[in-house]
Amino acid sequence: MLTVLLFISIFVVFMKYLIFDFDGVIANTFEAYVQFYAEQRKISPEKSTKFIINHVLHNNRPTLIKTVIKNLYLPKLESVILKRQNTLNTDLLNNLRQIKYPKAIVSRNNTKLIKILLSIDQQQLFNYIFGYNNSKSKVAALSYICLQNKVQLDDILFVTDTVGDVIELTGLGTLKKDQILGVTWGFHSRNLLETVLPSAQIMDTNKQLINTIAKICSNT
Ligand SMILES: [Mg+2]
Repeated sequence: MLTVLLFISIFVVFMKYLIFDFDGVIANTFEAYVQFYAEQRKISPEKSTKFIINHVLHNNRPTLIKTVIKNLYLPKLESVILKRQNTLNTDLLNNLRQIKYPKAIVSRNNTKLIKILLSIDQQQLFNYIFGYNNSKSKVAALSYICLQNKVQLDDILFVTDTVGDVIELTGLGTLKKDQILGVTWGFHSRNLLETVLPSAQIMDTNKQLINTIAKICSNT
């Protein structure tokens, strides 16, 4: 009996899939977006900040990428982001190496830009890097990953910084709320995230996030 239980538990642990949003979780791009949008629309940084925060409250709005950036503006956004220092959350990326579960990035950013920011070594941490050019929505990307890897949606743990992601991923019942962790170093504050997630699922530091992921994975 014990052997059977052990086998089942090892099997379940093996199935866990960790999926990370990119902007605001792995990359500190908030200020770059504010600067880019303010310059593009010739508006104040305050107005731009408000727009960016509101924009990611819902993922069903026409995306910033589609409405403002498009291919024409991508080089401009690229240069704004690349000129900034310390964009990557390297501490988180380094710590993710210790976590031996399959990982993916599912983002609404441009895949090429994500890959420019990540070194080859960092890219290899992830089995998939999906930007908006690879899938029409985050739900679609998650479904694809599950299908390709024969894992269930129930096995996913998703990490995000925005209310919009939580609404999109739980809206159609794709994920349950307890499969989502929020982080407060991105585009949305703890107060905003608490409108959609329990306080205990919102992380303030990389260390807290890594420890929580490790705990959830070992409990499965
Ligand atoms: Mg984000």
